[in-house]
Amino acid sequence: MIAFDAGDHFAELKRLHSQVRRCRKCFLWKTRKKAVPGEGLPDATVMLIGEAPGKKEDAAGRPFVGPSGKFLDQMLEEVGLVRENIFITSTIKCIPVPAGKPKKVSIEACNPYLQGQLKLVNPRIVCLLGEVAARNVLGVDKVADVRGEIIRRSEHIFLVTYHPAAARRFPALHAHMRKDFRLLARRANIRQ
Ligand code: SF4
Repeated sequence: MIAFDAGDHFAELKRLHSQVRRCRKCFLWKTRKKAVPGEGLPDATVMLIGEAPGKKEDAAGRPFVGPSGKFLDQMLEEVGLVRENIFITSTIKCIPVPAGKPKKVSIEACNPYLQGQLKLVNPRIVCLLGEVAARNVLGVDKVADVRGEIIRRSEHIFLVTYHPAAARRFPALHAHMRKDFRLLARRANIRQ
């Protein structure tokens, strides 16, 4: 578990991100260039949780800066959400090796950071992008089974949709993801 000192939660979030950048809790520290803690408003209304950094994110130390990030930015713009006003992170904070889905050991080791971010940012709605994030946070196996539904769990409200990398590859998913993001934008303006 990560211990938080009492005090300002902005400072605590900053501290958590410093811990991530130095983290050696799973084997991925050996192969990453930069850990990618996440970024955005520390008290954002909307939090997006993806899967893991890719090569561009690993090089930049920032989330969703590659082709999937461009696709995500377009989707956000279409529904009137401003990237700078939301908080974006991922299930694990270092690029997976071998490339592909993150291993369970990394997801488990990294989860306290994600839980810390959820607690500190305390968003009005959390959008889980893809199967890895949905399974880790909600125990959901298939995105298609729950996407587009508002799910209340513990202290948060969740919405599951496709990962931008998958939606980018399969045009048949665009309309679904757009619809989910419209709902996300609407819910972002509703107080719980
Ligand atoms: S993936 Fe997470 S737990 Fe593993 S080294 Fe990176 S920050 Fe630490």
